[in-house]
Amino acid sequence: MAGRVASARHSHRGRSRATNWATSEEWKGRQVIVGVPKESYPGERRVALVPAVVPSLTKAGFEVSIESGAGASAGYPDAQYTEKGAKIAASRADLFASADIVLQVLGPGANDVTGNADLALYRKGQVVVGFLRPLASAQDTGRLASSGVTSFAVELVPRITRAQSMDALSSMATVSGYKAVLMAANVSPRFFPMMTTAAGTITPARVLIVGVGVAGLQAISTARRLGAVASAYDIRPAVKEQVQSLGGKFVELPLEITGAQDTRGYGTQQSEDVIKKQRELLATTVGGSDVVITTAVVPGKKAPILVTADMVKGMAPGSVLIDLAAERGGNCELTKPGETTIQHGVSIVGPINLAGTVPYHASQMYARNLMTLLVYLAKDGKLQFNMQDEVTRETMLTREGEIVSPRVREFFQLPALATAG
Ligand code: NAD
Repeated sequence: MAGRVASARHSHRGRSRATNWATSEEWKGRQVIVGVPKESYPGERRVALVPAVVPSLTKAGFEVSIESGAGASAGYPDAQYTEKGAKIAASRADLFASADIVLQVLGPGANDVTGNADLALYRKGQVVVGFLRPLASAQDTGRLASSGVTSFAVELVPRITRAQSMDALSSMATVSGYKAVLMAANVSPRFFPMMTTAAGTITPARVLIVGVGVAGLQAISTARRLGAVASAYDIRPAVKEQVQSLGGKFVELPLEITGAQDTRGYGTQQSEDVIKKQRELLATTVGGSDVVITTAVVPGKKAPILVTADMVKGMAPGSVLIDLAAERGGNCELTKPGETTIQHGVSIVGPINLAGTVPYHASQMYARNLMTLLVYLAKDGKLQFNMQDEVTRETMLTREGEIVSPRVREFFQLPALATAG
């Protein structure tokens, strides 16, 4: 099992760990360089830093270096970066070699196509910040640890008020929720709003959102802005008021669910019995919807199947299902990740990397998240790793060859690392 492999390679070696790591000696007496490579995942158009945030980083004492063309496909040409005080690196290799901190959108793990090529470019002690999909594979996360980098996975930013402005997962979910509705409107053969015309009255589209986290809430808002009638369902009853405050109808299912939300605010994995019951109870609502948008996921787990082939059969021809959980296996039994198929007359869309299709604003939001995190971790232009600080401790994934995140170690059942008392 993958977890065991990593356990053997990255087990605790018995030495005591300081709870407070000081700034690297290497950085003393010179400016720390923040490097931004061009993303390499096929079709990725986002960039980790936009020109507007460069001054905040230089003000905090950093120097910013960009790979030529890194922001071009997001709408940020090199000249805009240099105007704001960034330098353009001579080459990609030069960027990785000179940067003390590398900022990426999809780093190794999250970029499961070309991401591992970056491992060879990293230097020991270099800081890497990006989406690293830390809970997906113990082997991938172990490989990242072995590269010797101090990595921060944005997926691990704790959901506390203080860290809200660093929460890239929420930023990208906002983008995906918005774009899912536009995709649905584009694929659907129907209007979304109600219209009263000389040629008759058009009834509004009925949009059902299953899973009301950040993406689901944004999908409700966007569907409402387009004039659709929105309803939504989630296992966490706490979201009912949020749905209603956005003008949506909350679908209540008579299910006994205890502990639907974990201590971090995420939905919890439900038993197969509960999921089966959910499907039965949801079938009528799904069948009565013109558009279904599913977003139901549990961190690190395969997405639950909430819409079966039979439920799709029960939808009217021309209906649309957008499965935002496609990357995690999908919430619909018929979803093909990365494809749009028509099955039983229903268009089933399984988008991959949807946030990357709104690259200008997705990059802007992501860059602000990263800048806030770096400025938070920095003092006088150097990063300080205070392991007693919750944001630092929770977000740091690897350091000195080890997986150091307590959440990830627990998830992969690795023994806890000892800390100096
Ligand atoms: P997510 O992407 O992890 O999951 C999407 C939704 O799917 C969740 O609402 C989850 O409850 C739901 N879900 C899981 N299994 C389901 C099932 N079987 N049936 C129906 N729904 C199911 O969620 P998220 O966007 O990360 O948000 C999770 C929570 O964290 C939300 O309440 C959000 O408001 C909160 N949050 C808080 C902060 C903060 O305080 N800083 C930041 C971001 C999010």
